[in-house]
Amino acid sequence: MEQDQLKHTFKNAWDTMDDAEIEKCLAFSEGYKQFLDFSKTERESVREIVRLAEAAGYEPLSTFIDGKKKLTKGAKIYAVNRDKAVLLFNIGKQPIKTGVHIVGAHIDAPRLDLKPFPLYEEAEMAFLKTHYYGGIKKYQWTTTPLAIHGVVFTKDGEKRDIVIGESDEDPIFAITDLLVHLAKDQQTKSLAEGVEGEKLNVLIGNRGIGEKDAKDRVKANMLELLNEKYGITEKDFITAEFEIVPAGKARDMGFDRSMISAYAHDDRVCSYAGVTAMLALGEVETTAVGMFMDKEEVGSQGNTGSESRYFENILAELIFLQEGQYNDLYLRRAISNAKVLSGDVGAAFDPNYASAYEKSNSAIMGRGVQIAKYTGARGKYSCNDANAEFISEVTRLFDSSNVVWQVGELGKVDQGGGGTIAYILANANAEVIDWRRTGHQHACTV
Ligand code: MN
Repeated sequence: MEQDQLKHTFKNAWDTMDDAEIEKCLAFSEGYKQFLDFSKTERESVREIVRLAEAAGYEPLSTFIDGKKKLTKGAKIYAVNRDKAVLLFNIGKQPIKTGVHIVGAHIDAPRLDLKPFPLYEEAEMAFLKTHYYGGIKKYQWTTTPLAIHGVVFTKDGEKRDIVIGESDEDPIFAITDLLVHLAKDQQTKSLAEGVEGEKLNVLIGNRGIGEKDAKDRVKANMLELLNEKYGITEKDFITAEFEIVPAGKARDMGFDRSMISAYAHDDRVCSYAGVTAMLALGEVETTAVGMFMDKEEVGSQGNTGSESRYFENILAELIFLQEGQYNDLYLRRAISNAKVLSGDVGAAFDPNYASAYEKSNSAIMGRGVQIAKYTGARGKYSCNDANAEFISEVTRLFDSSNVVWQVGELGKVDQGGGGTIAYILANANAEVIDWRRTGHQHACTV
């Protein structure tokens, strides 16, 4: 055998495309950038996914449960869980009990949540207190434009969606940092300690109203403005869900526009790819499922996370509709025979921080999706370790479909690692493999 047949080198995706294919790739990225702009929170992602799905002929599960429509092969169904997670189904020719094919990703992202009673004034400035959600590097959230996204309920229980800081006319918000001239002590602290969680207070105003010597005049002004514009009071913050995220739109990055800079690639990059793949499917042999889940960044728990029974319950509903009866064994078989591609973001080798990686098993920017046999950290703890049989099946499928792929391990053995939703369906006995989009913290190749 020739040497080049014995050796393996991973391909660069750009080199495999001709001009027409690169055009198609860039056009796809335009759709992705829009998705990034309109889907900064899990609720916004659900709304956007449902909008795209409806445009492609998907209908809500309730239409089938109510008996308005019969569940037949080719039916396209979406099911929304509490506005924070969404499932898509394309019903196959084979019954669901014989198994399903799943692509999964998460639609929550690290951010700063407002505390339940967040508003206060100090030194004639008004602030909102936050509690961060998921793993963040705190220093990255200071001195950068921020927007507020969320839902609030008026005292009559009316739900209002609020987004402030995204249109050009909107004000933005910010978290202060100590100016360099006064930062001698701060600069000697570790990165983790230089900015403390309780200092991540969002500056929202400086102008007071009322008597010049009145107390908390700036806070009073903020409450007036919030009431005028959104009809809410300080008490309404208690029931609201407000998320602070970086303001601004996704942008092309690099002279060659080969990358995209945006907030929350993790995991819009896989959820968008999963949604568009689902919507592009015609008739399928095996029922195809798209799972777009909440709470991954905080451990996948709760009723909107992947650990919730939601997926199982909806699959049970579909089996009932399809079989005219429910049998628990059918559900167990459907999940045991499931094949799952669990999508999430993986690290790309960064030459600026080379010591964190083991280069030969790290993904390289531009070389396509990563197959991550296992996640988990320091001795593969808490990992999903995909079976060789299934990896072989998936990589052969990728090769025969000209999918550019590589392997990716998240950092050095003793360094890092991280979980995703892969283990949850694997625990339910499905075959699961992690595939990862390659990126650095602010860029992803599509
Ligand atoms: Mn992720």
